[in-house]
Amino acid sequence: MGNILSALGETLLLIAVVWCIHFVSLLIHELGHALAHVFATKDDRWYVEIGTGKKILKTSKLKLQLIVLSGHFHPEIGRYDSKKKTIIMLLGGPIASLLSVIILVFIRFLVPMETPNLLNVSAVRFIQNYALIYNIVLFVTSIWPTKNIWLFRNYVSDGYKIRRILQNKKNDTVQ
Ligand SMILES: [Zn+2]
Repeated sequence: MGNILSALGETLLLIAVVWCIHFVSLLIHELGHALAHVFATKDDRWYVEIGTGKKILKTSKLKLQLIVLSGHFHPEIGRYDSKKKTIIMLLGGPIASLLSVIILVFIRFLVPMETPNLLNVSAVRFIQNYALIYNIVLFVTSIWPTKNIWLFRNYVSDGYKIRRILQNKKNDTVQ
């Protein structure tokens, strides 16, 4: 019984850790879009949506839902008045994810690990590796011009939107 309980406890802890890594990584990506949007437009009316499914938290800037596999940046303005501003906003997310990857690589490979007292070394390594891999996936899938990948039927990557803007002769804008 003790073994089952500890196995259950470890599984729940693992799910919680993975959930937190997804949440923080997606939040950083979407806040990258938000920061770039504010930089380009000086407009602070936006909110970020993380996850789908059951609502967990709703503030003026953040809507958080249970299944943390995707995120969205919602500016209040319907469209941008220039291609440049749209592209700056679209680049903000991938750049934020790339910076996360660089910081995580630094932590994973260059910072010597002190003996942790709360978690064992393999648990810390798992968290570092998972966070690093997830942020690499976020960066690559967002900057690569692609849409409708695997489970994400309505997915249109930031890179895809950027390419569409660059190919479009008109001063068309997309989000
Ligand atoms: Zn994005």
